Amino acid sequence: MTATSQSLSLLFLSTPVGVLGTGEGGGVELTIKNLAQDLLQTQHQVTIVAPTGSQLNGIPIQPIPGNLQIPAQGEGRDAPILLPAHSVLANMCDYARQVQSDYDLIVNFAFDWLPFYLTPFFETPIAHFISMGSMSEALDEIMAQTAAHFPGTLAVYTRTQAETFPFPDACRCLSSGLDLSLYEFSRQSDCCLVWLGRIAPEKGLEDAVAAAQQVGRRLKIFGWLQDSQYWQRILDQYPHAPIEYGGFLSTAELQQQIRRCQALLMTPRWVEAFGNVAIEALACGVPVIAYRRGGPAEIIRDGKTGFLVEPDSVEGLVKAIDRLPEIDRWACRQQAEEEYSLAALRDRFLAWFYDILQSYQ
Ligand code: UDP
Repeated sequence: MTATSQSLSLLFLSTPVGVLGTGEGGGVELTIKNLAQDLLQTQHQVTIVAPTGSQLNGIPIQPIPGNLQIPAQGEGRDAPILLPAHSVLANMCDYARQVQSDYDLIVNFAFDWLPFYLTPFFETPIAHFISMGSMSEALDEIMAQTAAHFPGTLAVYTRTQAETFPFPDACRCLSSGLDLSLYEFSRQSDCCLVWLGRIAPEKGLEDAVAAAQQVGRRLKIFGWLQDSQYWQRILDQYPHAPIEYGGFLSTAELQQQIRRCQALLMTPRWVEAFGNVAIEALACGVPVIAYRRGGPAEIIRDGKTGFLVEPDSVEGLVKAIDRLPEIDRWACRQQAEEEYSLAALRDRFLAWFYDILQSYQ
């Protein structure tokens, strides 16, 4: 039996699509960082295995050389599984195999086929945190096999995300959380809107730009420019839109920028697994206007901490922007405190880890 107060030695496998700290990995980077930081402060040992160049203040990282994986969201559902030559993911798995006996548990954050496939070949149990909705038949298949052979080892952010997979009931929902002390509440706002995230087609930035143009409000945009052709198409389509792109900012800089905004717009075309940016905005007291689709639909309290609008409706966004004065910004901060604290996130992850250790040791 594993005591639930036992301090754990954990090996995190980071996302292989990007270097931690650059934004290339999307929201899961923040989840990995927050969780590792908090576990390290509470008597647990964490090492993160991540592509060379990765940096997270004060968190032990084992850098692994190699070529990055291609993000699954750019490929079709029937795409075969690909590994580049000198694959960083293969090298990360190889490193994990060599050191596995030093750890109680390996926690896989890679949304990729290989770590699932390799699970039965490891002696140390592997917990898989799935950071996106279903993207590929091959990946769904290997995840389903892992769920069947190792029940309880799969977790996701949200129920909506779990339901994109053929095995929703095998997924444990862990939600997300933040170090709320890093986000300052602002009761006042100017009249700017903000949009945050990777600039890539599945994030639907063009709808936020169209809405900002219609209401004549400035839209600040921050995030990693993943697809520059897509960005150029938006600039060509809306040459006079009142938008400004501020690059990819650190959490400290980002919260300074967003807390004075009137609202965050979230316009995903896909089923967003969670949407860490939603809770970052709420933590600053900034209401969120989002399409009623994916994770944001589970987060936002419609009419209280933002508005949920019909998916893909720019008109819906415009109407919600007009209604922003109805929202009490303090209610937004309160929701973040009640539902998205880092301590609560850590407790949910730890309960999952202890359950796995009880079942597989
Ligand atoms: N982000 C950031 N700096 C920026 C813009 C965004 O650190 O200038 C981070 C943000 O904190 C969030 C991530 O980028 O953690 C975007 O994640 P989200 O879950 O919203 O979407 P994903 O990229 O995973 O689809």
